[in-house]
Amino acid sequence: MKGEIISVGTELLLGEVVDTNSNYLALQLPLVGIDLRWISTVGDSLDGLIEVFHRAIGRSDIIIATGGLGPTGDDLTREAIAAVLGETPSVNEALLEGLRAFFLRFGRTMSPHNIKQATLIPSAEAIVNPRGTAPGWWVEKGMSTIVAIPGPPGEMQRMWEIEVAPRLQKKIFGHFKICRTLKCFGRGEAETDELIASMYLLKNPDLGIYAKPDGIHLRLVAMAGKEIEAREMLDSAEVRLRDILGDSVWGSDSETLETVTGELLARLGLKLATMESVTGGLLASTVTDVPGSSGYFQGGLISYTSESKSLFGVEAGLIEKHGAVSHETAQAMADVARCRFNADIGLATTGVAGPDPMEGKPPGLVYIAISDHRGTRSVEAHYPPRRPDVKRLAVIHALFLLRQVLLELEPEGGHQWGLSSA
Ligand code: ATP
Ligand code: MG
Repeated sequence: MKGEIISVGTELLLGEVVDTNSNYLALQLPLVGIDLRWISTVGDSLDGLIEVFHRAIGRSDIIIATGGLGPTGDDLTREAIAAVLGETPSVNEALLEGLRAFFLRFGRTMSPHNIKQATLIPSAEAIVNPRGTAPGWWVEKGMSTIVAIPGPPGEMQRMWEIEVAPRLQKKIFGHFKICRTLKCFGRGEAETDELIASMYLLKNPDLGIYAKPDGIHLRLVAMAGKEIEAREMLDSAEVRLRDILGDSVWGSDSETLETVTGELLARLGLKLATMESVTGGLLASTVTDVPGSSGYFQGGLISYTSESKSLFGVEAGLIEKHGAVSHETAQAMADVARCRFNADIGLATTGVAGPDPMEGKPPGLVYIAISDHRGTRSVEAHYPPRRPDVKRLAVIHALFLLRQVLLELEPEGGHQWGLSSA
């Protein structure tokens, strides 16, 4: 199977954005049995795109294109594929409905420009994209298969891994190979590994354990003749892993702690506010990485000195008595965040980022507090004493704690996890 990659975007052609997608895909194609022969970069012009696709279908069996699937006038990949194959795009009602639901979930209204993202040609099938608005296109015509994937690297990699690679694998080798990743926090790699030891005996799905910046990832890979069989194998392994690991599993596949907590906050209609010391704003920054976070995030305070903590309303006597790095100060900060921003939940961090000790306390010591209408609680954590790690881990830990509290606040029966939809 001869393969070809097409990178679409004027910003790539002119060198303003480095083409990391081609690099990623070039490493991936051989793994699914494709003999990669060509990589092309083309700007956002319909003529240029048509020429490149025309040449590609003349010489390659499998063409993977990335970029140009957005809603704007210069996103022309769909139009070019349609023109080269002599087909006319039309709106697909199910896709349009999905697109509307995507916008609704984030409390936004859909622009008419987005409608073209819900179009298909007769030879195309949509590839789902939970991370963005643009579905991919899977096109089969004659001897050629064209797969069009959105350009943003996060969306591209997820779609490749979960949707495209398994199908290509099936097409080329005759069986499905699909993966699912469960994400955990709160236990170390060795402890987790010990708990799930029996699962390694399964072989199919094959299980791997990886320490990642946001905790421990458990990766399941299932192989079967039919896609549904592979998915069922993943489902039952997921149930067993979740039984063993309980609440420490916070998400799967493309989910992040900020998207998981964001969805819970939105669903419960609760507002969050933060007050940060040791994380210096990274917590608020991470929360606001999620589109639509203004629907639930009221705002955050950063107070890096005891003086500013008391200026914002943490009692000076309390800081003097217990220290700025203490359960008491963290809890008072969470209360301040909640009250000042008129939020339902206040989340606070205070700690010693290092490298030097503070108040006689060691670097890596962090207190995280969370306040809601039922009261305020806090946890003490000890991280490896490297500044960036302390800040990063404190943010992950704070969001993990937030998730636990949100699950407690869910109405009766709400505290359930569904199987990953991947
Ligand atoms: P969107 O809906 O986001 O517009 P799209 O499929 O139209 O998706 P593009 O508009 O082509 O994608 O690209 C969106 C962004 O993704 C670009 O601004 C760029 O930063 C990034 N991107 C696109 N292609 C690549 C690539 N090949 N390598 C790295 N980054 C890329
Ligand atoms: Mg675009």
